[in-house]
Amino acid sequence: SEAPQKIAILSVYNKTGLLDLAKGLVKQNVRLLASGGTSKLIKEAGFPVEDVSAITKAPEMLSGRVKTLHPAVHAGILARDLASDEKDLADQNISKVDYVICNLYPFKDTIAKVNVTIPEAVEEIDIGGVTLLRAAAKNHSRVTILSDPEDYHEFLKELEKGEVTEKSRQHYALKAFTHTADYDSAISEFFRRKYAGEGEQQLTLRYGANPHQKPASAYVTEGKLPFKALAGSPGYINLLDALNAWQLVKELDAALDYPAAASFKHVSPAGAAIGVPLTSDERKVYMVDDIAGIENSGLAQAYARARGADRMSSFGDVIALSREVDQATAKIISREVSDGVVAPGYTKEALELLTKKKGGKYLVLQMDADYVPPPHETRTLFGVNLTQHRNDAAISPQNTFNSIVVPKDSAPLPESAQRDLTVATIALKFTQSNSVCYALNGQVIGLGAGQQSRIHCTRLAGDKADNWWMRFHERALNIKWKQGTKRPEKSNAIDMLCAGLTPENELEKADYERVFDDVPAPFTAEERKAWLAKLGEVAVSSDAFFPFTDNVFRASRSGVKYIAAPLGSQNDQACFEVAEKLGITYVEQHLRLFHH
Ligand code: 5GP
Repeated sequence: SEAPQKIAILSVYNKTGLLDLAKGLVKQNVRLLASGGTSKLIKEAGFPVEDVSAITKAPEMLSGRVKTLHPAVHAGILARDLASDEKDLADQNISKVDYVICNLYPFKDTIAKVNVTIPEAVEEIDIGGVTLLRAAAKNHSRVTILSDPEDYHEFLKELEKGEVTEKSRQHYALKAFTHTADYDSAISEFFRRKYAGEGEQQLTLRYGANPHQKPASAYVTEGKLPFKALAGSPGYINLLDALNAWQLVKELDAALDYPAAASFKHVSPAGAAIGVPLTSDERKVYMVDDIAGIENSGLAQAYARARGADRMSSFGDVIALSREVDQATAKIISREVSDGVVAPGYTKEALELLTKKKGGKYLVLQMDADYVPPPHETRTLFGVNLTQHRNDAAISPQNTFNSIVVPKDSAPLPESAQRDLTVATIALKFTQSNSVCYALNGQVIGLGAGQQSRIHCTRLAGDKADNWWMRFHERALNIKWKQGTKRPEKSNAIDMLCAGLTPENELEKADYERVFDDVPAPFTAEERKAWLAKLGEVAVSSDAFFPFTDNVFRASRSGVKYIAAPLGSQNDQACFEVAEKLGITYVEQHLRLFHH
């Protein structure tokens, strides 16, 4: 018996290449069935074609809303080479369809138009086309689905030689599935913007990383955004900061069972800390000695430490706090230059203070503390999607820092060292790499972020730790300020003094000295050396192994007693030897913690 005539269903919005395809199919003796517009065009070109209604026995309806949606079409496409399927088709007098050629209404182009209405967009939602694509792609073990005019030529070449190969059918099916997925995400994105409610599932941002990067938004595709803006409206970088900083404090609080705080700038922490009680010197250096009730608030002390680590870098920060914000914490924040805060909650008094800041424009985000993100994360860079498992490895004082490498006969680490290594390591987990962090007293004291060379991180962080410690020198503590000097001006002047930078010329000198009643003498090299020698018990963590011993030498200059780092360098052994000679305990930290 003769093989039955093959059947193709054509229904395309984009009619590019259609006539060449029709010609090629007819040449191979394929029977063409097409929807209204597609059929008309083929007919006008003089090729034999029937309307789909020839098999559906039903006219196109509802101004084109129903064209190909019919069992005669979809059973013909979906039928397998099974006896039971053959019987069903025979009972209904339906023929198998072999080729489907379909592409969809231009929903994306329509919604890209300014002021497009919802009814206009709705009319562009293709129903039958998606069904054709999906049905044919699903049954690709038998049916060929062409969704891209670019593929017509190759397809015809194969057809002329005989049959379309399994490999090609698979390739075309994948394209069809991708076409409908892309189409559906454009539709859901459009309606998310229209119906989800601003701030529920999506939030429009003023702009992206820079003012010319518009439009910009934040959204989730399932459930709700895990935060609410109680005041102000976040920018793109604010959210990068807030979402990283929140993870940091949440993990730090969970690991050490203390209130935790972080102060972020450009997606790296300037400081991070837990609420270890402050000494009176620390209160002075961190400029919180006049905050009422601070000694009773672990959270306020945590933020004082986080902000105090590197006051210059924290200028204009985004703050994360692990627990409900109280009045003392809000009081500290209210008088610092800052962009926003994220926390699981706020007391009434705290919220009142924060919502008054910047004339009500200060960003106050409330985070859903129970929110757990999905295990995979995806971002797009230069049109390429990158996806990975989230870095959800847990760091804990008991489990992460118990493989002591040197000294061989070492007792377990003291609790304070475990605590500080935990602070430093969790801070690095959310710092742009490469990164190295020095910590003491439950807080970051120096963090080097985003350097291409590890020794540059170690130096940068070490210089910051030195600068931090110089601020505790009595000369820095007892500066006589001119009346009316603002807090950021004080921080800048202290930084100059402590970094040992002296003005170059008269102009700079006048600028530097204008804030002092009594200009402090610069530190001599001897004074600096003697004071830095008093810094001890410092913990250092590195987000990857130390490739050379210079890192260990540099750490040692800033009072480092404990190092935690991943192993794997050719120079591991040399680093251990140097550490041991310098009296440093070296701990293997098993996780590499790059972050970008
Ligand atoms: P034509 O120009 O042939 O009239 O229409 C082609 C377009 O209609 C294609 O983009 C195809 O995806 C779409 N289409 C095919 N069948 C149906 C249907 O039953 N309903 C709707 N709304 N669109 C369909």
